[in-house]
Amino acid sequence: MDKTGSYSQRIINAITENGNRLTPARQVIVETLVASNGHITADGLADQVRQTAPQVGRMTVYRTLDLLCELGQIRPIFQGTGAAHYVLLPEGSHHHLICIRCHRVIEFTHCTASDMAQALAAEHNFLVQSHLLEVHGLCTACQD
Ligand SMILES: [Zn+2]
Ligand SMILES: [Zn+2]
Ligand SMILES: [Zn+2]
Repeated sequence: MDKTGSYSQRIINAITENGNRLTPARQVIVETLVASNGHITADGLADQVRQTAPQVGRMTVYRTLDLLCELGQIRPIFQGTGAAHYVLLPEGSHHHLICIRCHRVIEFTHCTASDMAQALAAEHNFLVQSHLLEVHGLCTACQD
């Protein structure tokens, strides 16, 4: 299985392992979401899903995204105004530097927050599932 396929499968496993039914609609929504690489609104995803599966309604997309949030497979992010964008957590984490002026988003993967999360988890007897880190400020172009 290719990388995208196996990641879709992991999300699908999370759905079924938690006692939820895997419907054909849910399957196509997960596959479309992973293929899009996230950073997408519910409406944006619904539009993409409709191209391959016109029978899947918008409400089904909304409810599936809610379920995936509940299962910790995706997280909503809010960038100023407008609808939430959903990001994937392929390695259990996701990281952004966000420019508050031009709203540019810089992805980064090198992150030491896992150690901090584990230390906090030990202190609070908390079981860590994932982390989402946003750092806000001004990008190079916007510092002038
Ligand atoms: Zn900027
Ligand atoms: Zn991102
Ligand atoms: Zn991290």
